[in-house]
Amino acid sequence: MEFENVKPPEWGEIIEMKDGKLHIPEKPIVLYIEGDGIGPDIFRGMKRVIDAAVEKAYRGERKIAWTKIYAGEEAKEKFGEWLPDETVKAIEHYLFAIKGPLTTPVGGGIRSLNVTLRQRLDLYACVRPVRWFKGVPAPVKHPEKLNVVIFRENTEDVYAGIEWEPGHPSIKKLYSILEEDGLMGKIRFPETAGIGIKPISKEGTYRIVSAAIKYAKRHGRKSVTLVHKGNIMKYTEGYFKKWGYEVALKEFRDWVITEDELWDQVKGEDGVTPIKKEGAFAHLRGGRPPGDPGDRIVIKDRIADAMFQQLLLRPDEYDVIATPNLNGDYLSDACAAQVGGLGMAPGANINYETGHALFEATHGTAPKYRNMDKANPGSLILSGAMMLDYLRWMEAKKIMVDALERSISEKKVTYDLARQIDGATQLKTSEFATRIIENMEE
Ligand code: NAD
Repeated sequence: MEFENVKPPEWGEIIEMKDGKLHIPEKPIVLYIEGDGIGPDIFRGMKRVIDAAVEKAYRGERKIAWTKIYAGEEAKEKFGEWLPDETVKAIEHYLFAIKGPLTTPVGGGIRSLNVTLRQRLDLYACVRPVRWFKGVPAPVKHPEKLNVVIFRENTEDVYAGIEWEPGHPSIKKLYSILEEDGLMGKIRFPETAGIGIKPISKEGTYRIVSAAIKYAKRHGRKSVTLVHKGNIMKYTEGYFKKWGYEVALKEFRDWVITEDELWDQVKGEDGVTPIKKEGAFAHLRGGRPPGDPGDRIVIKDRIADAMFQQLLLRPDEYDVIATPNLNGDYLSDACAAQVGGLGMAPGANINYETGHALFEATHGTAPKYRNMDKANPGSLILSGAMMLDYLRWMEAKKIMVDALERSISEKKVTYDLARQIDGATQLKTSEFATRIIENMEE
């Protein structure tokens, strides 16, 4: 495919999805959007760090063919558009991209790059790993106990974008259906109510929960928790829970054990209350006592509000989390805050069937630090680590993450961390990247 403004290096090779499998060449083409504000500063830092880790791990046998694409202010200046169609087509073609933060243009008619790409490429999994790095100041006593990977469903729920402002003519049409079904009484103030729709489907649930279980298996994670509000929203979030267990047992029976099975419990006549049935599932545990899953992944569920308490009170009981869109949005930020803030939180939007993946810093453009070589590149570096993980370049990922951790624990950090850590040395973005590279071990 020919692109006008997308020019991969001659030696770059294309990543392909064939027969449901990603084929990663030794010199994969990875697209990048530098981003606005602090974007170029942190991008430069991230690129140097990744290239150094890959070089250390594979001695030139593997190398990323970085290829620039345009979005945001730079695209607006150069091509008169915030998000040129060619940028979207390039990601469609080359599969992998990593991006710095982008200014959200003020004014109507322009949708965010993320939303557009999420929809065009059906990037249904928003993956957010959250862990603590030694030395990062955190608001809880034991931030090290939280180490979760959140799989937030990215295409459904109240984020589907079906909502009407108060008084919109479509609301009247909707009311006529509600009237017919005798449900109008449920809307307390119909004249002034805005209305939104919350779709949650079986296919949508199956694919996000499957992705979470496969991730847990590949990374030796111990449990997958379905987080829902099914006690109130029975036919959306309640079905998320039902379908979540269903797909776990249908497609991954040999890998998983439910929490009930783990404790030899069956549901009583009411279908809710658990009843103990000694030894009923001992065969799934390979004869181990109740509570010992062996190497099976425990599938459990928690109601969303209880989950917020649980993550504060018993964080080490949770591991991979699969959840609908809105819960996932709240949970990822709460978890990130618990381990010391959003500045270090990475993210990826992925479609595991087509292979499309967009890795990103989760913070904004911090415009007041633009071109000051000051911002923390941590979030983008950790997004890069997620990319190495997705490329299955685990050696390079480990070298990079260990070096980042070492740099933070020696208190040589950017301003945002330095101002919170006693005795810290404040480094520029570029110096911090250099320090991480110096801290890399074979
Ligand atoms: P912001 O994340 O840019 O800033 C919030 C605070 O965190 C500021 O004090 C900022 O200086 C600080 N900060 C952010 N990243 C930092 C880093 N890497 N190192 C050190 N300090 C950092 O959020 P905002 O001010 O609400 O948004 C600014 C712009 O970014 C807006 O145009 C917004 O729409 C956009 N935005 C983009 C994304 C994205 O592209 N994913 C996400 C959020 C906001």
